[in-house]
Amino acid sequence: MSALFPTYKRKKFQLVKGNGTVVFDENNQRYLDFTSGIAVTNLGHCHPEVVSAIKEQSEKIWHTSNLFQIEQQEKLAETLVKDSPLDLAFFCSSGAEANEAAIKLAKKYTGKNKIITFENSFHGRTFGGMSATGQQKIKEGYGPLVSEFVHVPWNDVEELMKAIDEQTAAIMMEVFQGEGGLRIADAPFYEAVKKICDEQDILLIIDEVQTGIGRTGKRYAFEHFNLNPDIITLAKGLGNGFPIGAMLGKAKCKDAFGPGSHGTTFGGSPLACAVSQSVLDVIFQDAFLSEVEEKGKQFMETLADSLQNHPLVKEIRGKGLLIGIECETPVVSYVEWLEEHGLLTVPAGENVIRLLPPLTVSEEELQMAAEILKQMFEQFHTSS
Ligand SMILES: *Cc1c(COP(=O)(O)O)cnc(C)c1O
Repeated sequence: MSALFPTYKRKKFQLVKGNGTVVFDENNQRYLDFTSGIAVTNLGHCHPEVVSAIKEQSEKIWHTSNLFQIEQQEKLAETLVKDSPLDLAFFCSSGAEANEAAIKLAKKYTGKNKIITFENSFHGRTFGGMSATGQQKIKEGYGPLVSEFVHVPWNDVEELMKAIDEQTAAIMMEVFQGEGGLRIADAPFYEAVKKICDEQDILLIIDEVQTGIGRTGKRYAFEHFNLNPDIITLAKGLGNGFPIGAMLGKAKCKDAFGPGSHGTTFGGSPLACAVSQSVLDVIFQDAFLSEVEEKGKQFMETLADSLQNHPLVKEIRGKGLLIGIECETPVVSYVEWLEEHGLLTVPAGENVIRLLPPLTVSEEELQMAAEILKQMFEQFHTSS
């Protein structure tokens, strides 16, 4: 019997080595990794620049605590906020922790206590993040939760307006709902959110934990809609697998997070920041980002050509290399078939196959994945 709490439903095999998009299990079985550790290893496995950054910094100093100046943290913060509506960074070690910082800052800065989030959203597993999350199954058995969250239907401006009152501190949202089934709202919805926040002096918190760091073909997904967030949160792709999270906020919030107001031991260590810097040095280049956007577009076109009218497929949607194939039925058996044929994917919600290749994926690898997907749908269609 395993000595682990069975909190995860795991596959039977282990991945023991990887290079770029390709990974191998303990039996030397080869796969294309279109999970990227759930949108984490955005530069693929063992990217040479990231490997050399971790080697170099690990021989100097790893951790000093935030009792001291940390030059790597200053530099990383500058890189993250450059040419964005955000001015300041707070570093931590995970997405849920970044969201905790955002929730605390929003309450302290506004002096108000109500935060509006959306049905089907996902914001992490801490008490704050879980309470913010708009999915009942995540919260089962953990009540009472943090009470100040109100969940409204996604993509519904009217319901959103109805939920706002004088105690509303913030609206908190993902740009594209990741875990909840890769749901993309209509363009007018994003415009309305922006307008509501600007006019009613409500903070806009954008959870970019999954969508950030180049995943959608922009540094941050909010850039697709010209949103003006007061706070954003990051983690997943920020360290390419080394644990690091961040909350970025506008300068006006500075005084609400003065000395002693918030903190974490591990947040922003020289090692974590050096690794993350090497990731951003590659991803935050216009040429790199436009290539991601282009590869995503072509891949979606290829998928649409072969699958669009397939009876098992409902919709293909996404942005950049955050792509979902919504099916007519639950996708667990599809994901298993793909895995047996060398393609690793991860479901989103019940009915969506989520495709999260590394941003460095090659066109040949995308073609191969499209071919495997096509075969899979043909197979299930003829046998059903
Ligand atoms: C994964 C995720 C989180 C939680 O991040 P952890 O690092 O697992 O705490 C929060 N928000 C979104 C949108 C996510 O996808």
